[in-house]
Amino acid sequence: MNRTRGILIGRMQPVHNGHMQVIKKILDEVDEIIIGIGSAQLSHEAKDPFTAGERLVMMSQALAEEGIDSSKYYIIPMQDINFNAVWVSHVKMLTPPFSIVYSGNSLVKQLFSEEGFEVRQPPLYDRLHLSGTEVRRRILEDENWQELVPKATADVINEINGIERIKNLSIKEISDI
Ligand code: NAD
Repeated sequence: MNRTRGILIGRMQPVHNGHMQVIKKILDEVDEIIIGIGSAQLSHEAKDPFTAGERLVMMSQALAEEGIDSSKYYIIPMQDINFNAVWVSHVKMLTPPFSIVYSGNSLVKQLFSEEGFEVRQPPLYDRLHLSGTEVRRRILEDENWQELVPKATADVINEINGIERIKNLSIKEISDI
């Protein structure tokens, strides 16, 4: 029997509760989900502080915390390429075959629909607070960021001294201006 596969690609800087809610919703609709860790080449920048490997651990442990069976997902880091027109082929080269694309990102939606994929816009959960930008802002301002992320993300950030990293990166980027 053919299994329906959907794909969700995000920078996940870091993995937060919005990503987890949307993944659970997608798994109500498809048999398997491909989770693309986007911009895998980026790390140690204020907007992209975490490596692809760190984000992968956040995601795999968060999925385990949710009790999601590992036969239902693939987590695949994907580097950006300079050419939007061939990005979909690049993604297809890295992943198992899929038929449905889930995204709230307008460029991602545009590129996949032009290639004939069914694109679905998943619901946004508390977007005001559940965004990587807000998590990073709260870390910088010593506010409660832990409530926005799975325990796994908080554990990884603590393990790698991620708070110090984000604060140092912000000081560096200001002093570089
Ligand atoms: P993101 O982490 O901001 O979001 C990923 C997805 O998670 C969103 O589409 C949305 O569906 C979901 N999401 C996020 N917050 C949510 C919330 N509160 N509630 C529900 N769902 C939520 O990442 P992004 O910026 O959309 O990632 C796109 C990736 O694709 C980037 O890495 C980008 O560089 C890459 N990309 C690369 C190329 C290229 O290389 N040429 C072209 C297009 C896109």
